[in-house]
Amino acid sequence: MIRIYHISAIVWGLWTISPAAAAPLCPAMPDGLFCKAGSSGLAIAETADDAMRFAAAIDESARLFQAHFSRPAPSLALIAAPERFVALKDQLQTDLAMPWLARHASFSRAIGDALRETLRKSMPDLTPAAIEAEIDKKLAEIGGAQNREEGVIAHEACHTRFIKAYAFSSAESGGAQSHYGGSAPDWLDETAAILCEDAKTTADRRRQFALQRQGKFQGRIWPMRHFLEMAHPLAQEDAHLLTEAKKEAAAEGRSDGAFKITIYKGDEAKALIGNSNAPSFYLQARVFADFLIETTKTENIFGSIAEGYAAGRTFNDWLAENGAANGLPTDIAAFEAKWEAYLTHHYPIG
Ligand SMILES: [Zn+2]
Repeated sequence: MIRIYHISAIVWGLWTISPAAAAPLCPAMPDGLFCKAGSSGLAIAETADDAMRFAAAIDESARLFQAHFSRPAPSLALIAAPERFVALKDQLQTDLAMPWLARHASFSRAIGDALRETLRKSMPDLTPAAIEAEIDKKLAEIGGAQNREEGVIAHEACHTRFIKAYAFSSAESGGAQSHYGGSAPDWLDETAAILCEDAKTTADRRRQFALQRQGKFQGRIWPMRHFLEMAHPLAQEDAHLLTEAKKEAAAEGRSDGAFKITIYKGDEAKALIGNSNAPSFYLQARVFADFLIETTKTENIFGSIAEGYAAGRTFNDWLAENGAANGLPTDIAAFEAKWEAYLTHHYPIG
């Protein structure tokens, strides 16, 4: 199965789920790799420090997953060693394996390689030393954004755990193709991930939503009845990337579980995300989650909602059946009005 990441530099990898179901334990590691087992899975990385940080991040995501949903967080193996992802995944025989690009090693190397190639082509007069200096500068800029690496890991880990915990089918395994994250509705799949983010990312999202409401940040807020039904704004772009990735993998004779990084820059990156409403979708998911948790005074309200979807119900069904008991209206029009009132109160315009 292939999954698309949306991190600061547009980087994507292949996301694999294998059928075995044993809780992962750290096996003996080949030279140059370190494994750290946590309470909710394990992390493999190129430094002991990274393995420890990543294991802590997936444990934190498990804690948040369990706080917000009614089911235990499925055990997860994070593998921050792209070149050895397939072999390690097979060796672990883990239920869920998630590739990761480590900050100081594979990630920087991959980005450095891509930048070097781009610079050689676009600025043929640059000396090799000037190229390396330019790469160092760019990597430092990207490094600033990666203070939030643990938050992004927790986000991605919860996407994976959410689909697994509720047995929502993934798009790759025959689920609804229009859905970015599988047969779960896109808003709920994204919300599951956003609920697992760290405090700083969470605070940033609320702040950006406030700026958007004040018109200082261009974006949009969808009516709830639309938001709850819509496809992820990046669904189309992702579908395109997946098709390209598969074609490329087939042409190069790589297996489906192989790992590949593509970096989009400049106009290409702008074409990919610049014209989409993707940032607004994440912000609305965050604030909608706040609204539901605060209004229902129930931290794991999403567990109940996910159970409804898993049983084939719609949000409207869930509202009709569970709204009154949770301090919510039972029909979507009144629900929409309550949401609007929440926005007016917490996020005044202007
Ligand atoms: Zn996400």
